[in-house]
Amino acid sequence: MPEAKGSEVDLLGPLVDGLAESVIVRDLGGRILLWNKASEALYGFARDAILGRPFHDCLEGSHPSALVRLERHLLEQGHWEGELKRSTASGEERLVEVRWTLLRGPDGQPVSIIEYGRDITRLSDIEVESRLQAHRYRNLFQAMAASFWELDFSRVRKMLGQLVHAGVEDFRAYFEAHPEFIDAAVAETRVVDVNDKTVMLFGANSREDLIGGTVSAFWPPESRHIYAESLLASVNRLPALSRETRLSTLDGRMLDALFTVCWPSGHHGRGTVLVGVIDLSDRVAAEQEVRASELRYRNLFQAMSTALFQIDTTRQRQLFAQLATRGVEDIAAHLESDPGFLNAYLDAMSVGEVNEAAVRIMGAKDRRELIGQPVSRFWPPSSLPVVRRSLVSSFRQHVTFEQETVNYRLDGTEINTLFTVNASPELRERNMVLVGLTDITERVAAQKALRQLQSEFAHASRLSMLGELTASIAHEVNQPLAAISTNGAAGARWLSRPQPDLDEVRTIHANMVSDAKRAADIIARIRAMASNKAAERQRLPPNQVVEEAVRFLHHELMAHEVDLHLALTGGLPDIEADRVQLQQTIVNLALNAMQEMKRAHCPRPRLGLSTLADNGELRFAIEDSGPGIPPEHHDRLFESFFTTKESGLGMGLSICRNIIEAHGGRIWAENIPSGGARFLFTLPFAR
Ligand code: ADP
Repeated sequence: MPEAKGSEVDLLGPLVDGLAESVIVRDLGGRILLWNKASEALYGFARDAILGRPFHDCLEGSHPSALVRLERHLLEQGHWEGELKRSTASGEERLVEVRWTLLRGPDGQPVSIIEYGRDITRLSDIEVESRLQAHRYRNLFQAMAASFWELDFSRVRKMLGQLVHAGVEDFRAYFEAHPEFIDAAVAETRVVDVNDKTVMLFGANSREDLIGGTVSAFWPPESRHIYAESLLASVNRLPALSRETRLSTLDGRMLDALFTVCWPSGHHGRGTVLVGVIDLSDRVAAEQEVRASELRYRNLFQAMSTALFQIDTTRQRQLFAQLATRGVEDIAAHLESDPGFLNAYLDAMSVGEVNEAAVRIMGAKDRRELIGQPVSRFWPPSSLPVVRRSLVSSFRQHVTFEQETVNYRLDGTEINTLFTVNASPELRERNMVLVGLTDITERVAAQKALRQLQSEFAHASRLSMLGELTASIAHEVNQPLAAISTNGAAGARWLSRPQPDLDEVRTIHANMVSDAKRAADIIARIRAMASNKAAERQRLPPNQVVEEAVRFLHHELMAHEVDLHLALTGGLPDIEADRVQLQQTIVNLALNAMQEMKRAHCPRPRLGLSTLADNGELRFAIEDSGPGIPPEHHDRLFESFFTTKESGLGMGLSICRNIIEAHGGRIWAENIPSGGARFLFTLPFAR
């Protein structure tokens, strides 16, 4: 048997040497009987060295027990194939794809095993990689947020081929003339596979609903020209085509979609194409929303009674960017050092869109007269400080800015305006800001009239206050006058002496001059109080104002035996105020206090006046030892016409409040826990 086997093998020898595959024959005991050239190349063992040696020992790689199992299988089945790890002569590992076949003798008994082997060490890398790719692709295919379709296009390809045969050259024209061809093609485009997203997006229950069917249901008639385009792209061998279109879903919806078909390179000859569908419904809806909101904005813009100007800020932003690159951070300081920047800033802006109200306010014939105008022509020099402040606000990226100002109309006349700027991030992004101008000429006039009225009231109230003080004033003026007349008489007597004492006369004379001056001062103060001069703000030391007011009250305090306490903090900053109005306020508060103390028959009337700096502003307080303020009156004290006095007007405190608030301060009243009332007001210090 071995011989027969040997001769068989000998015959095989030259034959198998010509093969690229490794061919090895071993007997059932594992001894190597045949070893061809390709085996030498694959395993590195020379034929002479390996013939007759135990096969498994030489090529050991796979686990021996595994090999026993495989050989058993071979003996049972006559054949086995698979992949085995083998070691080469130099100890390297090889992955070999092997096929084993049992060779039988003439009696049908197995005698030897022939093995064909192919080195797939390198090949397997590629295969593994491609398997991995396929896996990745599947995962991707499933996981993509987009809907993916693998379509069998082969029948459509045939249809296109028939057209070529029939001599069609201009496919576009043909498709246009034969929509039925497109319909037929759609009906022949078959679904090979889809991902889960497709199932969801197209309203199917499962992938099986779609696989195997055609795409007809998804292409509504109005979108089929897009399908035709994808055919053209295929004919023209474009690698891919993307179009926005509308597709139908199985549950009867329409889908705004980005349709992408791609013929992966090398696929042109084959029948499948890959289609991606991205749902644009959200985007389309969002776009519609944006369009709608723009429309709303436009409508609002036009309908607003406020004049609105869209200002193009492209160049203005460039200016700011230049400042930024130069490292400018403190814009206010920069404006000090480069006053020209303000004009450059104004020149960099022009009017974009305007509304009807803007046309009206600016006295333009129509919108075109305003659009494109440089912003600078609306700003009189006197209003430039407002521009300056708005520049600073804009540089600091503030969203809004608002100030009352004066603007030029187109014809150069002035108009009182409330100037507002809206620079929301959304607007900024579009390189624009929205400027609103409200015509406040009437409001300004009304405010002026109100101020006039208030000052007239204040005047009337001062006169009535002076009226209350008449007795005191008469006394105050009378005193120096009486002294003058006494001194005059005394002087005359000194002069009529035989030896006139001139020194004495000189002294008396000096006294008379100073008394006359005192009287004149009192008269001047009263005249100032009584006059109806327009309010005039000036820097004043607060304590001085208080002291002068006290002088008014001098006689009144003495007459009522009021104990006066002054607690005036030294070194207070100036305030900016109208002297007369402020004195009026203090005198008014003091008179009220004295009246209340008298009414309540206060045994030891006491009045305390104090000034101090509190929280960066002046705080004035006047305290009395009267009955205090009944809680039910507290909220009404400063109302006009609120009075508890029989002959009272109830205007005093309301005028005090007007005066203090017009000066930027606050006024309020409180009770002193130990008894009496305290009235307080604040005023900002002058800057
Ligand atoms: P009139 O003095 O004409 O009453 P005012 O506006 O000056 O008007 O004062 C309104 C009211 O406030 C007074 O009638 C009085 O009831 C109350 N009032 C004012 N000052 C004091 C005070 N120091 N203590 C208690 N009540 C006061």
